Amino acid sequence: MTEVEFAVVGAGIAGLAAATTLRAAGREVLVLDAAPQAGGAARSEPIDGHLVERGPNTFRVSAAMNEFLRSHGFDAVLEPAAPGGGERFLVRGGALVPVPMSPLAFARSPLLTTGGKLRLLAEPFVRRGDPRGESVATFAKRRFGCETRDALIGPFLTGIYAGDETQLGVETVFPSLAAAELRSGSVVRGLLAQALRGGAAKGRPGTWSGKGGIGALAGALAAALGPALRLSAPVSRITCEDGVHRLAIAADSGDAEVRARGLVMAAPAAESATLLEGLDADAANALREIVYAPVASVSLSLATGSTREPVRGFGFLVPRGEGDVLLGCLFPSQLFPGRAPAGRELLTLLAGGMRRPDALDESDDRLVAALVGEIDRVLGLRDAPRTLAITRWRRAVPQPGVDHVRLVAALRDRIARQPRIALAGAHLDGVAFGEALASGVRAARTLLEDR
Ligand SMILES: Cc1cc2nc3c(=O)[nH]c(=O)nc-3n(C[C@H](O)[C@H](O)[C@H](O)COP(=O)(O)OP(=O)(O)OC[C@H]3O[C@@H](n4cnc5c(N)ncnc54)[C@H](O)[C@@H]3O)c2cc1C
Repeated sequence: MTEVEFAVVGAGIAGLAAATTLRAAGREVLVLDAAPQAGGAARSEPIDGHLVERGPNTFRVSAAMNEFLRSHGFDAVLEPAAPGGGERFLVRGGALVPVPMSPLAFARSPLLTTGGKLRLLAEPFVRRGDPRGESVATFAKRRFGCETRDALIGPFLTGIYAGDETQLGVETVFPSLAAAELRSGSVVRGLLAQALRGGAAKGRPGTWSGKGGIGALAGALAAALGPALRLSAPVSRITCEDGVHRLAIAADSGDAEVRARGLVMAAPAAESATLLEGLDADAANALREIVYAPVASVSLSLATGSTREPVRGFGFLVPRGEGDVLLGCLFPSQLFPGRAPAGRELLTLLAGGMRRPDALDESDDRLVAALVGEIDRVLGLRDAPRTLAITRWRRAVPQPGVDHVRLVAALRDRIARQPRIALAGAHLDGVAFGEALASGVRAARTLLEDR
């Protein structure tokens, strides 16, 4: 039996950030993870001279993430994307169309008709509505019009959430847009007013990874924890007696029980639900309501110059109706030079999502054949790609629904009745890597403030 001040369940980026924050405050911590390696979804692997990401490929550095990395000395592990990496494409009629990134590019873009552009520009004059409880699709149609919703916002959500804009809640997916409408009656007016007031705190602009991949960034946090991190240690049950949490560990070796006065639950929603069931059945039920999109991540290697369309920029997204199982295709070796050997390009294909969850049930051969067929139509392959890795994430990306904000508030309310428990993870306040990290920092601070 081990006794510690704080136990953290889960060594994904949320749990690692929580543990780092607690340790930096001089507190005793033990992180437990079921997997043999730390990082959770962040898994980078050298394969055949390429650096393959099995989970996230890039992230944005928010102000909170920047502050965390800088104050704990991890900013040296960051790797910025190459300057040309900003160029993003959408598939339209089987061809690649650049996503407009400036007002001039927007004016010239074929992605919207003149009517669609004028409707978007009319947003400040649209009557104030109430985004609370609204889906992204309803909000986007109301504020920006159907064309913008279908041509820009839908594909964007496919890329980030592997999700469905009619099911995702705008308050979690676009919190600043929903807040701007609530504040100013218009998204544009609200964002402009915020910018004039000095704007929200800024992080580092651009697209980022870790040197050696995102898994290496998580690995750096894990290494700094040293013996405060225990891997291959699945927590199977949590009980609480006299304000002390007792965590049963199902592994063959090591302690069978860890006792802790404080607890960060940083496992995904379903696992957290199982573990919290005995403490609060309502909290467990709320966690079970959080749905995840399944995603298959397939890494391919291509000979450089062996495509009709050049492999350049960030990659492309596939809007509904333009493809089948393929959601998007990223070009990591363009974004981060050195991630493929000389003469090769590394591609990450994301497949399935809420659009085609059954894609994950296909055999490797059939899945790869379907995906290669889809990228062939867009890029024009002159050479057969080599498959480097296939990773099936049955629960990849949480799907915050229209009532997610209220579900999480009720969940936190239940958890606050327990002695010193805080929740962290991508299923709570934002699904991106940096948002999961920030949720870990917040969970740690909640416990540090709780005396
Ligand atoms: C394929 C894919 C692509 C993505 N792409 C991007 C991207 O490009 N950009 C971006 O910003 N985000 C992306 N994301 C999202 C991002 O990676 C995740 O949101 C983030 O990494 C989640 O971190 P987390 O700590 O909340 O959870 P996880 O990383 O899931 O970590 C949870 C940890 O809990 C552990 N655990 C579970 N049960 C137990 C138990 N009983 N006992 C002990 N430990 C347990 C697990 O082993 C795991 O290590 C992607 C995700 C996936 C899957």
